[in-house]
Parts: sequence; structure tokens; C-alpha cells
Amino acid sequence: MFSARRDVGFAMSEGFPLSDTMASGFNDSADHSGQFSRRQSDAVRLRRQRSNAQKWVIVLSLIGGFGAVTLLVHLLGYVQMRTLLALLGMVAVGLVAFLLLFRTGLHLKFREKRLKLPIVVCCLAGMLGLVYLDPAMQILLAPFTFVALAYGMYRISRNTAFVLVGAELLGYAGVIALHYFEQQNLALFKLEAMHFAALAVALPGFVYLTGKVPLLHMVLNQASRKIRTIEADARRDTQLGCYNRRYIVAALEEQKQLADELGMPLCIAILDLDHFKRINDEMGHLGGDEVLRTFSRVAQQSVRDEDIFGRYGGEEFLLIFPGTSLLPALNTCERVRAQVEDHVWSDGMRCRVTVSIGVTQYVHGESVLEFFSRADTATYLAKEGGRNQVVVEEPVERSKNADFAATGDVLSEDAGEGTDEDFLLLEEAGLIESSRAPLSNV
Ligand code: GH3
Ligand code: MG
Ligand code: MG
Repeated sequence: MFSARRDVGFAMSEGFPLSDTMASGFNDSADHSGQFSRRQSDAVRLRRQRSNAQKWVIVLSLIGGFGAVTLLVHLLGYVQMRTLLALLGMVAVGLVAFLLLFRTGLHLKFREKRLKLPIVVCCLAGMLGLVYLDPAMQILLAPFTFVALAYGMYRISRNTAFVLVGAELLGYAGVIALHYFEQQNLALFKLEAMHFAALAVALPGFVYLTGKVPLLHMVLNQASRKIRTIEADARRDTQLGCYNRRYIVAALEEQKQLADELGMPLCIAILDLDHFKRINDEMGHLGGDEVLRTFSRVAQQSVRDEDIFGRYGGEEFLLIFPGTSLLPALNTCERVRAQVEDHVWSDGMRCRVTVSIGVTQYVHGESVLEFFSRADTATYLAKEGGRNQVVVEEPVERSKNADFAATGDVLSEDAGEGTDEDFLLLEEAGLIESSRAPLSNV
């Protein structure tokens, strides 16, 4: 049930109301910073990858910084070689263990999947071990304890941080006691006791002051999740669940830009349910709503994953075929039309539910409104031709169209070639019942 025309310019059809409703939604000069999911999700994935890489860079830089300062203290003669080697061994074991956990996906089994608490615990325990091996390492203990706590700040709750600090202080007290019993060095004991006292006051204070950060982090996360849900809802038609007018118009503008940038083909179809007033009259408004819901579901099942289907007015829908030329778009439209016709609607229903569809291909450089008007005209012709059919409106070669000369629009030489080939294919396939004039006659 195809037919096609190609002699009409881009004037708005007077008899069919779609152009008027649609015109208010289009603004070719509008800000296109709007939303379109594929680009957005790509950007989100890229941001996530970058943020993961950044996290590893930060951890490795902190460990590298600790190693560099240790090396410096060793070169100054305060730290022994065995301490340096012990540090290298600890870092190597820790890195391999955590890398393995992350690589094998074992970390997903833990409640806190980023393993911040175990990482901080390992750092603090490792530093205490080094202080035990070499008392001079206590010069690094205090500053790097703060760094480790700050690293875990977003994920470790205030209470856990207090427990962690308590354990660290207890461990440090144990190390001091071991040093004293092993070396009987009073001067070292006094120095370590001073360090201990400073840490015992500063660490709990630090945890108390920064303890609200995890809470703020959680609240911010919840808020951003809510915003994402609201954004997803804002794209949907509340009644039918398919994309709504706002989204489908933004998607069309986005796809037009992509087609212009990448030189890809683009098609759209306007779908209008036939005699929907009669369906409403027969089944009541609620029954009509149910027909619309079923139609939306059937249509979405019939289109391809990459096609974008949305409602932009009462019983009028727009279908966008990104990167698609006329023939496959036409095939999909015919599939939708046939599925709607063949669908088993409710038993008592006397009216047939059918849909008229107008399809057209984008001419690079034209405005969205011109593009849309052509599909609108095709839908109008499908109605005129008896409804329940798909009509193709062939684009006019723009350079030969007076309308465009008047507006001063420029079109690339080969803009019409894709559609012409498609048209020949359609004719050969017997899909078009048209007495179309050859391109050169236009
Ligand atoms: P045509 O075949 O020419 O398209 O005829 P039609 O009756 O489908 O077209 P028309 O534009 O004259 O009427 C559309 C009707 O769709 C009128 C309106 O009441 C109904 N309609 C629009 N939105 C909804 C809706 O959300 N629910 C219901 N039940 N009806 C709706
Ligand atoms: Mg209708
Ligand atoms: Mg209508």
C-alpha cells in the first residue's frame, strides 16, 4: 500500500493540521543544547571512564609521593634500606591484591564496592608497620594519616572513621611501647609520646569536622538520582509511555544536525490514526485512550531499535529514522501499517483501527520545518487517497526550486542523489504506484 509523489514544494498543507501544531515546536535557530540520549549516554560513559582513570592516578600519585619522601629521608641517612624495601614490598602486594579484586569483579561482592575502607585500613596499617621497623618513619605518619582519611572521606561514615582513628592510635601506642621495651631509649620514647599526643588530639578533631562530608555526598547522590529520574520522565508521554512531543522535536532537530554534520541520510514518517473521532464516538474517550496505548505499543514493536518513535499531538505520531534512506524507512512504515491493521483489537469493536503514514527523506541543508512539511503533505495525501496507506513524498531537487532560490538557501550538488536511487529501487520493487516524472523534468 505505497504511493509516492515528488512534485510538491515545501509549502504547508492547508487541509492537514499537523504543520500548524508542529510549527510551534520547531525553531531552526533554537538552542540545540537540548537532550538526546545517544550523545548523552556516550558522554556519561566517557566521563565515568575518565573519572575511574583519575582515581587510579590520584591513588598512585599519593603512594608515589609517600615513596619519594621515604627515599629522601633514606638519602639523608635517617631511614634504613630495609625500610625502603619493606615499603616497596608492601606497595607491590597491596597494588596486586586490589588490582586483582577489581579486575576479577570480586569487589562487587562487598557492600562498599569501591573498597575505600579496606584501602585506608591497609595504608594506615602499612604506615604503622614502617614506623615499627624504623622510628624515623613517624615523620611521615601524621601527614599521610590525614591524607589517607581524606581519601576515604566520601565513603567512610563518621562513626567508622572514629573507630579507625581509635585503632590507629591504639596501634601507634603499641608501636611506641614495643620500641621502648626493645630499645630502652627514653629520648625516642619522649619524641614518640609527643607525636602520639598531637595525633590523639588532631585526628578525632579532623574526623569530627569532616564527618558531615559523607552525609552531604549521599544527599547529593540522591538528589542527582532524582534529577535523572525526572529527566527520564520528562521525555515520556505520561499517557502512552512513548517519547513525548518535547523530546521527539528535540530528537528531530538533533538528527537533522547529525545528518548535516556527517552527511548521513535521514527519514521521518508522520503517523495519523484514521477516523479516530469515530473510534472515540464508539468506544468513549477512555476506550479511545486504550486504543492509543495499544497503537503506541504495536508501533514501537514494529520499528527498529535505532528508530525514534514519539507522540506529538492527540492521535498523531512522529517516527524518525536516523542514518536511514527511503527504502528501509518505507519498509518499516509498511510493517507498522500492516501490524496495526492486523492487530486483534477488542471483540465488540466495530470500527477498524488503521493508520495513514507519510514518509519523506531529508534534503541536506533544508530546515526542519521544510522537512517536516513534506512528511505532513505525504500524510495528507495518504488520507486523501483513502487512508490505511503509506505515501512517500519525494524531495524536490532544491537548486531547481524557486522557493529556495527566493530564500537564498544553498544545497549541496548531490543532496538529491540518494533519494533518486531509492525511488528507482522502490519502483523496480513494485512498491510505488506512481507516474513520477524523471528527475530531469522537475
Ligand atoms: P482522520 O482519519 O482524518 O485523521 O480523522 P480523525 O477523526 O482521526 O482526525 P481528527 O483530527 O478530526 O480527530 C482526531 C480526534 O482524536 C479528535 C480528538 O478528540 C481525538 N483525540 C485526540 N487526543 C486524544 C486522546 O488523548 N484520547 C482520546 N481518546 N482521543 C483523542
Ligand atoms: Mg486521525
Ligand atoms: Mg490528526
